[in-house]
Amino acid sequence: MADAADERYQQQAPDETDVVILGGGHNGLVTAAYLARFGLRVTVLERLGHVGGAAVSEQLFPGIEARLSAFSYLVALMPYAVVRDLELDVELRGRPVASYTPLLRGGRNDGLLVERRAGAATVDSFRRVTGSDRDWRAWQRFYDQIGRAAKVIAPTMLEPMPGKGSVMKAVREACGSTFWDEFMEEPLGAIVDRTFEDDDVRGIVLTDALIGTQTWAYDPTLIQNRCFLYHVMASASGEWRVPIGGMGAVTGSLERAAVKAGAVIRTGATVTLVESDGKRASVLYQTADGERRIDAKYVAANVAPPILADLLGRHDGAPKPEGNQLKVNLVVQRLPKLRSGIAPETAFAGTLHVDESATRLAAAYQESESGRLPDPLPFEAYCHTLTDRTILSPEAARSGMHTITLFGLHTPARLFAEEGVKDRAVQLALAGLNRYLEEPIEDCLAVDAEGLPCIEALSPLDVEAKLAMPGGHIFHGDLSWPWATSGGVAGSWGVETQIPNVVLCGSGALRGGAVSGIPGRAAALSIVSQIQRSRGRERTR
Ligand SMILES: Cc1cc2nc3c(=O)[nH]c(=O)nc-3n(C[C@H](O)[C@H](O)[C@H](O)COP(=O)(O)OP(=O)(O)OC[C@H]3O[C@@H](n4cnc5c(N)ncnc54)[C@H](O)[C@@H]3O)c2cc1C
Repeated sequence: MADAADERYQQQAPDETDVVILGGGHNGLVTAAYLARFGLRVTVLERLGHVGGAAVSEQLFPGIEARLSAFSYLVALMPYAVVRDLELDVELRGRPVASYTPLLRGGRNDGLLVERRAGAATVDSFRRVTGSDRDWRAWQRFYDQIGRAAKVIAPTMLEPMPGKGSVMKAVREACGSTFWDEFMEEPLGAIVDRTFEDDDVRGIVLTDALIGTQTWAYDPTLIQNRCFLYHVMASASGEWRVPIGGMGAVTGSLERAAVKAGAVIRTGATVTLVESDGKRASVLYQTADGERRIDAKYVAANVAPPILADLLGRHDGAPKPEGNQLKVNLVVQRLPKLRSGIAPETAFAGTLHVDESATRLAAAYQESESGRLPDPLPFEAYCHTLTDRTILSPEAARSGMHTITLFGLHTPARLFAEEGVKDRAVQLALAGLNRYLEEPIEDCLAVDAEGLPCIEALSPLDVEAKLAMPGGHIFHGDLSWPWATSGGVAGSWGVETQIPNVVLCGSGALRGGAVSGIPGRAAALSIVSQIQRSRGRERTR
C-alpha cells in the first residue's frame, strides 16, 4: 500500500526559476533546502505522489498499523553538518548489539555475538565459536585501525574532492604506512584472509563489502573495497543507527526544511526532457494535467546518471547498473526464539547475519553469476522496533508486534526476469532463517486485514519499477573512491557533468551512495560557488 499522492504538492509550479531539481529523493530535498536558504528560487519535480525516493516509511499491510522503512532502513553516513546546517529534527539511535550470527558448529547450535561496546559476552562468544582469542584480538586491531582512518576520511566528504595523494598521506600518518597499501591497493578478501582465521568471522567482515554490490572478495577492480570503505569509514563513528520514526522521519524533516526555506515541491511531475546550452536550461515534465515546461539557470539531477543521460539525449553507451539485493519486509506478532538459546531481543537487536560465511558468500556469488539463485541464500536481518517502537500505533506496540527486514545478497536483477523466481528467493531466505529458529518464522507472521500474512518482497526489478533506480541498483551505480581518480577532478565537488549548469545531486554522484545527503549538499555548494564566481567576474568587469 503506497502513500497517497500528497495534495499539498499538486499545485502549479512556476514557469521560470533559478534551480530545477529533478527528483525529490532525500538528496534532492537536501539540495533544495540549502539553495533556498541561500536565497535562490528552487523547484523540485518528483514523479511519485510523495517525496523521499528510497528514504520513506509506508504502511505496507492493510489494517496493520506499522510504518515500515520500506526500502532503506539504517543511517550511518549522514554528517552532523547537514543536520546542523538545515536544523533537522532527525534522531538517530545506536543499538546495543552490532551483530549476531547464528551458527551450527559440530551439530550444536551456537552463535557469534558482537556487542556495540564489546564486553565479556563478546569475548566469550569469540572464544567459544572460534576456539581461541586470536580472531577477537585481530578484530579489535582491524576495526581500531579502520576507526582511525574513518576519522581522517569522513571530514573530507564535506569538502571539495581531495586528491588521492593528500588522503593517502593523512591515512598513512594516522594508521601507519602499510594500512593504505593493504586497504586501498589490494583486494579486501586477501586482507581478510590474512587477518582472520575463522570462516564466519571473515564473512561478517566481508558483508560490508558485498552488500548491494555484485562482486566477490578478490575482485581486482577493488569495487568491494570501495563498498567496504563507505560502510565502515564514511561515518566517523562507523555505527549504523536507527532513524527514530523510520526513514520517513528523515525525509519528513528534510521536506520541512526545504519548504520552510521557500522551495517549491511539485509531486506527480515526471521529467521527460532536459535541454541546456550551459547557461540556461529548460525542463519538460508530465503531470496529470498535461505537459509543462520550466526554465531555469541551473539543473540539479537527483535521478540516477543513466536517467539524466536519457533526459539530455546523451547516451555514452555505458552499461546500465544492476542491483543485486532481495529485500523482504515482515511484520511479526512476536519475535521467534532461536535454537542457540540466545534471547531473540538480543539476536535481532543488531544485524543478524544468516549464511554469510566467507565460503558461502563466494559460492553464492558464483551461483548467481551462473544464473542460479544462491542456495543457501546469504542475507541479513534487522528489527527496527526493538530500538524504536514509534513506528507502531500504540495498540500495535502494546501487542508485542515487531517489524523485521531481510536483505539478501547476490540476487542480481537478471535472475528475476522469469516468473516465480522472486517467490523461490523468498522461500530460500525464510528457510535459511528457519534453520536457526525454534519455530518457523511463518508461524510468527502477523495477518493483515485481508487475511494475508504480512510479508512483502522486492527484487531489484521491483525497486526499479517503484523508484526508477536503473536496474534496481540501490546506490544508482557502483560506488566511487571518495577522492579524485580518473572519474573526478581534485577541487571539484564530484557532482559536475559535461554541462556547466547541470549537476548531479543524488546517489550516483561521486561520494554519493546511501542515505547521507552528502551529494545533495555538494551539488548545492557547487551551484553556489558557480554563482559566486560569476558575480565576482561581473564585479571585476
Ligand atoms: C532496498 C534498499 C535498501 C537500502 N538500504 C539502505 C540503508 O539501510 N541505509 C542507507 O544508507 N542506504 C540504503 N539504501 C540506499 C539508499 O536508500 C539510496 O542510496 C538513497 O536513498 C538514494 O537517495 P537519492 O535521494 O540520491 O535518490 P532516490 O532516493 O533514488 O531519489 C530519486 C528520486 O527521483 C525520482 N525520479 C526518478 N526519475 C524521475 C523523473 N524522470 N522525473 C521526476 N522524478 C524522478 C524518483 O522517484 C525518486 O524519488 C537502500 C536502498 C534500497 C533500494
